[in-house]
Amino acid sequence: MTDLVEDLKALIRIPSISRDPAHAADVAAAADWIAGRMRGAGLEHVAVMPTSGHPAVYGDWLHAAGRPTVLIYAHYDIQPPEPLAGWSSPPFAPEVRDGRLYGRGASDMKANLLLPLGACQSLREAGGALPVNVRFLYEGEEEVGSRSLPGLLAAHRDLLACEHAISADALQLGEDRPGLLVGLRGSAGAEVHVRSAASDVHSGRMGGLLPNAALALARILAGLVGPEGRILVEGFYDDVRPVSAHERAAMAALPDDSEDLRRAVGARALHGEPGFTPRERNWIRPTLDVSGITAGYQGPGNRTIVPGAAHAKITCRLVPDQEPARIASLLRAHILAHAPAEVEVTVNASGQRAGRPYLVPADHPALAAAERALARVYGRQPDRTRMGSTVPALSILREELGIWTVPFGFSLPDENAHAPDEFIRVRSLERGVQGFRALLEELAR
Ligand SMILES: [Zn+2]
Repeated sequence: MTDLVEDLKALIRIPSISRDPAHAADVAAAADWIAGRMRGAGLEHVAVMPTSGHPAVYGDWLHAAGRPTVLIYAHYDIQPPEPLAGWSSPPFAPEVRDGRLYGRGASDMKANLLLPLGACQSLREAGGALPVNVRFLYEGEEEVGSRSLPGLLAAHRDLLACEHAISADALQLGEDRPGLLVGLRGSAGAEVHVRSAASDVHSGRMGGLLPNAALALARILAGLVGPEGRILVEGFYDDVRPVSAHERAAMAALPDDSEDLRRAVGARALHGEPGFTPRERNWIRPTLDVSGITAGYQGPGNRTIVPGAAHAKITCRLVPDQEPARIASLLRAHILAHAPAEVEVTVNASGQRAGRPYLVPADHPALAAAERALARVYGRQPDRTRMGSTVPALSILREELGIWTVPFGFSLPDENAHAPDEFIRVRSLERGVQGFRALLEELAR
């Protein structure tokens, strides 16, 4: 078995920053490195697959006759390291201090992507065979929204055929507290344009005569959400699937981190829909936010004008079973129905299939297998968790391959992903290989 820490250091030294075209050769070098590591783990048909963007890497082992096939997804691209001043050691010169391996990509997710490979290698070295068939697909564009993934999956449906799918891009709740992410929110959005005149107009000439586009927009926006936080768009909550008392009780039993979150963002107070805890508002309730407003004069000093145009952007987070396209059309209809008659209002609303909310069915067999595997490693039953954000890759796998992907990884929330001094606990590496070995065995049952 190769040394996981040395492997991880070697991979971190390759700055595979997908967002920066200047690093395209590094991303390609990381793909080649991964391909070599897959071969070293005993995988076959290993190939670097070109896409319209950065390449993906594929490898498989398909000799477990009569057993299920498991697709393992991960990404090898990383976020840029800036701000560099925040790093205690250079981001691409990995270093172990106090049981933590520091470097960009350590936690998100170069350590995690090595774990299933380490598990396959150790199983092959122990007995020669794996308990299940495996296909690995590692992409290089997760940090830029998995742009090429839909096309890649659509073009290779046969190659990627599987009964179960696992994403190694995942977190545990705490060092000794296992968790499984089962749900993510979806998204939809709109842009609103209000026009009352061909341009901004002098307020000495037209003030008191011309409708103020900024005020008209403000009235429209204020009508979208009530003062307490309930969304007022007609039909918005129609398709929200009720959450069982059992799941709400399980959520309430998790440690309450809302005060930490409030402090972390420097907020005076938290605010949200009545009748739900802060965690419920983030995990199981939909939201509507105004994400940007522009109108009138923005330069230094002041200027005596009446704005002739005003613009806003709106984003929604959605929960099962809200359809992004339906929410977009409800939003558009509501805004147009409540627009003041004296201004011209246009709405560009969008809701994509990839923005559907994601919730692994509670009785899904891969979820049960993942729970048994984590319980074996941690000695306690994992919590099922949700998250307020959207992970495009999981939705894309669902849409293109028709499978539910179970996130299964060993990073921890405090490891500075996307921030300076990113690290992974060295202890998590060994635990993660054990976890993946247990998972493959449990999936074989
Ligand atoms: Zn990331």
